Amino acid sequence: MTIPPGSVIGIVGGGQLGRMLAIAAAQLGYKCHIFDPNERPCAADVSAFHSRAAFDDVAALRAFGAEVDVVTYEFENLPVEALDVLGEKLKPSTRSLAVAQDRAREKAFIEGCGARVAPWRQISSLADVTAAVLKVGLPLVLKTRRYGYDGKGQAWVRSRREEQAAWQAIGEEPAIAEAAIDFLAEFSVIVARWEDGRHDFWDSPENEHREGILRRSTVPCGKACAAQVDEAREAALSIAEALGHVGVLTVEFFASASGPLVNEIAPRVHNSGHWTIEGAVTSQFEQHIRAICGLPSGPTALAGSGAAMDNLIGDDVNRWPELVSEPGLHLHIYGKGEARPGRKMGHATRVIR
Ligand code: ADP
Ligand code: MG
Repeated sequence: MTIPPGSVIGIVGGGQLGRMLAIAAAQLGYKCHIFDPNERPCAADVSAFHSRAAFDDVAALRAFGAEVDVVTYEFENLPVEALDVLGEKLKPSTRSLAVAQDRAREKAFIEGCGARVAPWRQISSLADVTAAVLKVGLPLVLKTRRYGYDGKGQAWVRSRREEQAAWQAIGEEPAIAEAAIDFLAEFSVIVARWEDGRHDFWDSPENEHREGILRRSTVPCGKACAAQVDEAREAALSIAEALGHVGVLTVEFFASASGPLVNEIAPRVHNSGHWTIEGAVTSQFEQHIRAICGLPSGPTALAGSGAAMDNLIGDDVNRWPELVSEPGLHLHIYGKGEARPGRKMGHATRVIR
């Protein structure tokens, strides 16, 4: 089914991903309706409508669903049962959401698709942490099953003595324990998939993280990643197909000495794809709108010979006068207010011609 320009696209979540989706949708003549509990979510600043309600407010979600022609979501920590009231209008479906929001289910699902992940164990007690250390080895990282992002909800165990402190640091929550991967580099596969199974990939960005937060994405990626992209794309596509995913799906990989290992999936547009706004012929945001609305796909080729995207985290955004003066630099500021440490405030993309 085609959802034509002029229709209303609902977006659950009003952060910067919703904001950039809404900007892309507006260019194609759609109006966006943001569903978010905050008073002034930054996506609502660029959207026609905003419903302010809790994500688990089923009545509000039902009313919102009745006012929009199609709905998508821009982050994964959402209550699946509540979103189920949106029914067929929700793209991607709650299946993608349910898998991506629980690290244990996610890992098992990825393995079920035939893709490889780091050795891992499910954890629900301190005794499980000890057992994981014996099975998986040291160092390892504990990650809460739910609500982790930008390295939050994670604690490293480097020696037996750190087991208890790490378990406490993650709040003694249900978790996974994962072996440390001595990766050559990190990269992601970003794929857009249509209802009928058509799909497109962008060039895979190489991603640099600091303190668990993405700092920089670069295309083309370096040699170590480039050698693993074909196998990684196969894995990403089998995950997208198994989910019946519609829209953009991002799969983060470690390029390891033994080949690509899936780190995690995001059932949505992704920070490592922000460079596509100016660095590719069609951006991840426009393509997501095209896919959920059943429009033809846009070309995903590089616009130049490459691109580099730097996140502006916390105080970095105060560098805007210098950045906005740099010829050819594409500055994006999300309009989020207070520049707290670790908060993603904007990004800057340099396209290599
Ligand atoms: P988040 O949801 O916060 O992005 P990730 O699991 O992607 O959580 O972890 C964030 C970053 O931490 C990764 O991109 C990587 O740099 C580092 N990291 C996570 N798990 C491992 C691991 N098993 N081995 C080595 N580094 C890791
Ligand atoms: Mg990650």
